[in-house]
Amino acid sequence: MSVFGPDNLPLGVFQYGDQSPRIGAALGDQVIDLTPLELSDTFAEPTLNAFLALGRPAWTSLRAALLELVRTGAVEPHLIPQSAVTMLLPIEVGDYVDFYASEQHATNLGRLFRPDAEPLLPNWKHLPVGYHGRAGTVVASGTDIVRPSGQRKAPDAAAPTYGPSQRLDIEVELGYVVGSPSALGQRVSVDDFREHVYGVVVLNDWSARDIQGWEYVPLGPFLGKSFATSISPWVVSLDALESAAVALPAQDPPVLPYLAGKNLVNYDITFEVRINGDLVSTPPYRDIYWSPAQMLAHMTVNGASVRTGDLYASGTVSGTEQNQLGSLIELTKAGREPITVHGKDYTFLQDGDEVTITAHAGDLGLGEVTGRITPAV
Ligand code: CA
Repeated sequence: MSVFGPDNLPLGVFQYGDQSPRIGAALGDQVIDLTPLELSDTFAEPTLNAFLALGRPAWTSLRAALLELVRTGAVEPHLIPQSAVTMLLPIEVGDYVDFYASEQHATNLGRLFRPDAEPLLPNWKHLPVGYHGRAGTVVASGTDIVRPSGQRKAPDAAAPTYGPSQRLDIEVELGYVVGSPSALGQRVSVDDFREHVYGVVVLNDWSARDIQGWEYVPLGPFLGKSFATSISPWVVSLDALESAAVALPAQDPPVLPYLAGKNLVNYDITFEVRINGDLVSTPPYRDIYWSPAQMLAHMTVNGASVRTGDLYASGTVSGTEQNQLGSLIELTKAGREPITVHGKDYTFLQDGDEVTITAHAGDLGLGEVTGRITPAV
């Protein structure tokens, strides 16, 4: 469990005993019950959406007020041990978009899915490639993941079959939570990222590779992805994450003007992936090719609006080293080269396995997202 220091104060929705779900801030291994502090009526709500809709000036002033209450010790009567509460889904998710912004991941998957072609497709360095996912199946950390069933067809098989996925996988990602909406017909500039996005969560985009491999041409991911996406319970604000901000890597070829900006941000975050407690990978976020500001600008460039509670994710985060890959399909070369988990050969997820992804930016913890695989029904 990551420690949440006094400068972090991520927000989440907790349930304590038989009391109504409401909003708290994490402080160390405690939850600050925010409702009795009377900073904002929105903290008594069962999701963060009303708070998110307040917008950037309110987010920043409420954070300053809370930092002061923590500094003076005024929050102490309102601390509850995290071990005594249940954390719920922090937002009512509006729309969900998943990008594909890691050059290393896109290259690795291109080689695995299209071994006879250029791994990176011609559009990849001109726009942040993405697709619209299924918002209604974004679930809270700790929710069991039922093994999906569907159509699978091995490349050398004559016909597809139906049954439980045999190649169930993870994707390590960072999710961005939209607070302020945009108007239909208007695009969001790369310079307005901080006005619209409140913060980040750790995200696991569960993926059934056998279903995905058969269905994805030509319209992209569908049932191989839509059965579940897990997010961490604590939303870390961009204000807290400022200490982890780094410049975006150089983009070549140059991007079109609507994607260009002087202060395009990226974040120096490291993930840790554990299967049944065994550390299997440590993907680094800082070299992701596309800035989250560019992702937001691109997803609205056609006039599509964003809403409070929208979630968009980075795509799988993979580094250049074998121990930095963000999915099992990459870690095991599509199952051909097993990794070792607890001393045994391991390829894809088995029933009963528990996957936990934590993330941190130096001393700043982002918490964890976890989920256990249960058998197909
Ligand atoms: Ca993904």
